[in-house]
Amino acid sequence: MTARLLVSAARLLTAAALVLGATTLAPASADARGHHGHHGHHGHHGKVVWGPTTIFAGTPVTATGRVPRGRAKVKLQVKLPGGWHTFASTRASRKGTFSISGALGWYGGHQVRVSTSGRHRFKRATTVSVLSVYPPRGNPADHVFLQYGGLRYSFNPCQTVRYVVNADDVGPNGILLAQIAMAQVSLATGISVQYVGTSHQIPYLTEETRLPEGQDMLIAFADEAEIPRFVTTPAIGFGGPIQTHAALDGSRQRVWETTQAAAVFDTNAWFSGNYDWSFQSAKPNWGETMLHEFGHAFGLDHSPAADEIMFWQAGNGRYPDGLFRGLYDAGDLTGLATNGLGQGCFRRVGHFRTGTDSAPVPAPLP
Ligand SMILES: [Zn+2]
Repeated sequence: MTARLLVSAARLLTAAALVLGATTLAPASADARGHHGHHGHHGHHGKVVWGPTTIFAGTPVTATGRVPRGRAKVKLQVKLPGGWHTFASTRASRKGTFSISGALGWYGGHQVRVSTSGRHRFKRATTVSVLSVYPPRGNPADHVFLQYGGLRYSFNPCQTVRYVVNADDVGPNGILLAQIAMAQVSLATGISVQYVGTSHQIPYLTEETRLPEGQDMLIAFADEAEIPRFVTTPAIGFGGPIQTHAALDGSRQRVWETTQAAAVFDTNAWFSGNYDWSFQSAKPNWGETMLHEFGHAFGLDHSPAADEIMFWQAGNGRYPDGLFRGLYDAGDLTGLATNGLGQGCFRRVGHFRTGTDSAPVPAPLP
């Protein structure tokens, strides 16, 4: 159910982006024939025929072929610092033939392989390029990280971020927009996200916000009486990490693992009519705002560039055609990719040599 919702959110996003009239980035159709893995030591025992290797996000990575050992477990893996990460698996037939398909919803060029383990180990790798369905504007360098002591804040990219939505004030529209925005975060970072249901919690009401077991991120709507800082800042949304722990990434570099994060949006502003309930409109929209606050939750600070979603001032998502678009820009995407699956899997550590075991939680970022 939740997975299906997520897929439909991603489809909606793809459809939405296509409707935007984005220039078509032609996926190399030449790859459609696939190519055979090089014949190695066990070459005559097996082969892999890859499906298209230049694909739009949302298209699965596919391969067919034969492995040397019948009934072997066949895995589709992507290379990360620190090891290969499995994103699909199947079992070969008695004769060793297989057909495998897996979703690699992660922008960029990635090393992908088919592999089996145990006796007669078999491996064939290729490069898969995952394209976004729109051409991002802006400069890839225009991003800034949330940091403490020179270390970034980031979710563990190998764990699914399970999020809940408190849409008590606004109803299902709020949930749907949040799902579409989270699907964009997932494509940019390669981190799996999963909507796990509704919540009635509001973050930032007390010094420390803590989520119940089974939740990694809270997305909520609250009114200006509940969150006075909407008025005093002023801002229509806040977001950021709310719990952290010392960790090492796949290259054994120190990082502040964001173990929980939150974002909250202004219910009064939602009903003000000043912001459209969409990702594309003639006036500023909630799509941009959600992407911005989720960017903070995933470890981005404000960008100085006005053509980035993470620009400090809201409502700057206007394109030359006069429309506002809730789409991550080049700098946002580069920053999110840095805080994504390319870091490899995190390993939590008791504390760093400096004695610190967690970073201060940043003040809620507007
Ligand atoms: Zn901000």
